[in-house]
Formats: sequence, C-alpha cells, structure tokens
Amino acid sequence: MTQETIVPKPLPEPDEASRPFFDGARQGRLMLMKCLTCGTVRLPSRRHCDRCLSQESEWVAASGRGTVRTFGIMHQRYHAAFANDIPYNVTVVELEEGPRLPTNLIGIANGEIRVGMEVVVDWEHHDDVTIPRFRPA
Ligand SMILES: [Zn+2]
Repeated sequence: MTQETIVPKPLPEPDEASRPFFDGARQGRLMLMKCLTCGTVRLPSRRHCDRCLSQESEWVAASGRGTVRTFGIMHQRYHAAFANDIPYNVTVVELEEGPRLPTNLIGIANGEIRVGMEVVVDWEHHDDVTIPRFRPA
C-alpha cells in the first residue's frame, strides 16, 4: 500500500500588474483590461493591446457571462496536486466582452460539457487569492 504525500495546488501570485484583477476577484468582480485607444477588451495583465498596440488601458468589470469555446478532459497526471481531480476539465470560456479565458467548469459532469453552452463565473476562494471558475448559467 502506498501513501501519497499531499501536494498543494500551485496558485497564482498577484503582482503589481495583475493586482487589480485579483482585488476584483476577491470582491466577486471579473476584471478585464480595456484599451483606451480602440476599446478592445483583453485579459490581464498584458502590457499592450493586441489590436492597436496601445499601452493605454483601464480596468473594467466584465459581466461574468460567456460561452464554452472549447474544452479538454485531462486523464493524465501532469502535477501531483491534481492527482485526485482526474479526470478534470480544462475549458476555454469566451467572455461576452470577447476575451477567451482558460479555466475549469464546476458544477457539471465532464460528460455534460458542450461547446457553445452558456456559463457564468463563480469564485474559488483561497487564503491569499481568489480564482475565477465557471458553472452552467
Ligand atoms: Zn487598442
């Protein structure tokens, strides 16, 4: 009989550039960056706009709604901390505002996930950081 050591999952560590995103997350708001030059919305924390290369931006709260753009089911253990979660989904949600956010769906069996289904943000709270997940709308 083997006994596996419990390995904590790696968590993001907010830095100066991403702090508005994680501060918003703790308050239940999904924060995105909006280009002040052309209005394109992007995921944090990218220095410049992918469309016009402007570095001028503001933080805006997203609706929290989106649709499943694509997903995969992980059957392989890539990191010891995720061993007990296998099989788990890795899903790309296309937000109403346009950006595509890699995340996980919760509150749904992997076999029920469909491309195009409507989802809404939910929050996974840890001691030092809050992470967005999505569930069926
Ligand atoms: Zn722009």
